[in-house]
Amino acid sequence: MNVDPIRKHLAKQAKELLRFQANNTTQFQQLLEKLQRDLSGRLADLGSDGNPFDVARLRRVEAETRVVVDAIKRGAAANFKGSLDDAVELATEHFGDEWNFVAKAIEAQPFPVSMLAQREMVDPLHELLAEQFKSSLDRYGMDAINGARREMFMGLRIGDSTNAIVKRVRDTVGDMSKSQGERLVRTEVAEAYGVAKQQVMRQTQKKIGPLKKVWIHNGSYPCPVCMPLHGSMRDMDGTWTVYAGKKARKIAHAPAHPNCLCSSTAMTPSMRQRLIDKKILVPESADDKG
Ligand SMILES: [Zn+2]
Repeated sequence: MNVDPIRKHLAKQAKELLRFQANNTTQFQQLLEKLQRDLSGRLADLGSDGNPFDVARLRRVEAETRVVVDAIKRGAAANFKGSLDDAVELATEHFGDEWNFVAKAIEAQPFPVSMLAQREMVDPLHELLAEQFKSSLDRYGMDAINGARREMFMGLRIGDSTNAIVKRVRDTVGDMSKSQGERLVRTEVAEAYGVAKQQVMRQTQKKIGPLKKVWIHNGSYPCPVCMPLHGSMRDMDGTWTVYAGKKARKIAHAPAHPNCLCSSTAMTPSMRQRLIDKKILVPESADDKG
């Protein structure tokens, strides 16, 4: 094995380190910490409005990240007369790489996700969440739920807004209040997207390896079903156990119940750890087993 490149690399790093110590490192550290804080904040923001898929925000975070990295490079150049460019590169490379890796891999899939969600909605084997809750079945009946499913599929296919889909469903089902319609549509569309996103996350994980999924409880309502799951991490094929009364269900992704605003989001364990270290993500329990 040729160790020469490794030796050279180490020598270069040692030289950078010496330059660090000889210069004003505090300012540089502050710049780096600011980058990490900003990024962590934006990462934690993903999925916070119940949007089932985060492509637009992934793009925005990626673009903003580039702006911050450029600002740091400029700052370093001004503070250290350009001598630390390489060191800045080294120091920001790992964090940036990791982020881009995950963002790009998932971002490449927005259309497949929407199509998968439509297909999921029309697949007769796809059980609507409403079918798993006896109260919903009693309220609407199977015919109405199937009619609602058809309208939701049509709405997804032509890209209707949630409100337009609710209108379609209420016109078809008939005896359904606006809030009932909204709850049914939001929940079932979120479920179809949850299934689709889980498939895409699994494909992405096969490509890039260390990806896991983390449950994120959104919103201020302290949901007794979902709060205990907040921040917990699972292998991509793992499940969370949720309780409706005494009945336990194992689920691979959000939503967990009607009107659930949670999301399950792909990240690497080290990304999650950074969010925890910065107290941006505070897991409810240490349970990462499933
Ligand atoms: Zn929830």
